[in-house]
Amino acid sequence: MDIHQNTSLKEHNTFRVDVKAKYLALPESIEEIKEVVEEYRDEKILILGKGSNILFTKDWNGLVIIPNIKGINIIKEDTKHIYLEVGAGESWDEFVRWAVKNNYAGIENMVMIPGSVGGSVSQNIGAYGQGITSVLSKINILDIDTLEEKILKPKDCGYGYRKSNFKSIWMNKYLITSAVFKLTKHTKEFELSYHERAGRYGSLKEELDAFAKEPYSIQDVMEAVVRQRSKRLPSIDEYGTAGSFFANPIVSMEKFNDLSKIISDLQSYPAEGYTSEYIKIPAGRLLEELGWKGKRVGDVGTFERHALCVVTNMNASGEDIYKFIKEMQKSVKDNYEIDLQPEVNIF
Ligand SMILES: Cc1cc2nc3c(=O)[nH]c(=O)nc-3n(C[C@H](O)[C@H](O)[C@H](O)COP(=O)(O)OP(=O)(O)OC[C@H]3O[C@@H](n4cnc5c(N)ncnc54)[C@H](O)[C@@H]3O)c2cc1C
Repeated sequence: MDIHQNTSLKEHNTFRVDVKAKYLALPESIEEIKEVVEEYRDEKILILGKGSNILFTKDWNGLVIIPNIKGINIIKEDTKHIYLEVGAGESWDEFVRWAVKNNYAGIENMVMIPGSVGGSVSQNIGAYGQGITSVLSKINILDIDTLEEKILKPKDCGYGYRKSNFKSIWMNKYLITSAVFKLTKHTKEFELSYHERAGRYGSLKEELDAFAKEPYSIQDVMEAVVRQRSKRLPSIDEYGTAGSFFANPIVSMEKFNDLSKIISDLQSYPAEGYTSEYIKIPAGRLLEELGWKGKRVGDVGTFERHALCVVTNMNASGEDIYKFIKEMQKSVKDNYEIDLQPEVNIF
């Protein structure tokens, strides 16, 4: 395994920020990860996937490890379910497309999320009403301090809305080497129940009806998501971006009622893990109200179709982006007394 020294991370983060890593390793097996950690024991370690949820504001003065562990293996299956162990270095999007092609359901709404499987398990991804935790069965990790391999259950990983222990107390300590997903074999009954669930996502239903007939197949649903995401979200081939920069804020019903008086048709969604006194509201809408949609400051801005997506011309520095997002936070705080929390990890 090659260890790159003093190397640019521009191709390893989707903001395309040109920071340097003192050392960069792309190990392809657990043994190779152990070797590199032992050799560089004194260096500060950063675990990186595809860098699609990271903002680098400075060089990494230590070792960056990108676990490049590949493979999709069947662990067990019965008539209804299949358990697949997927390497942390696999592309999440390619895994979704592979599953849909094979008629395995449960992740089709999460197509086009541009991370690695390891990063997606860490970040607790979700889209169009589906979340990774509903299909996650086990997580295999390597403890960077002890080099012990452990198997974790999702219930032990502190998962909540866009939260996990991997994003907080275990950050850069527990390296995800692979994860086991329990997917549903695509049966006729599933198609019918899917039909009911698809109805809950009005915008997707419209997209589906434009080219498919009920009962929808998972292939149809994935295609609808692809079409909609292509219209709504910035492409990482055209922009520097990490997708939605902030998580949607959770506010009290009282706060929601107050905001509804000044923001017409403010939407709300249930806040998983909270009592019914709390509700989730769209951060993008708050920003849009304050004129942030499509705003530009030098090399940084927000996407013209989505105020929550911070975008760059791929030449912005991490500091420029950081300054810009601080202004966004201040504007929402000053106007609505809400603290927007970054979904993106800032280093
Ligand atoms: C255009 C665009 C659209 C997006 N859409 C969505 C969306 O719809 N829904 C959504 O939830 N997210 C979305 N994202 C965010 C992002 O793609 C996901 O969070 C993604 O899964 C992150 O994976 P990654 O490999 O890029 O992680 P990275 O950005 O490389 O890392 C993220 C964090 O995970 C840690 N990490 C990475 N790999 C491992 C590992 N193997 N073990 C332990 N820790 C690890 C890193 O240390 C870091 O803290 C979008 C991003 C973009 C750019």
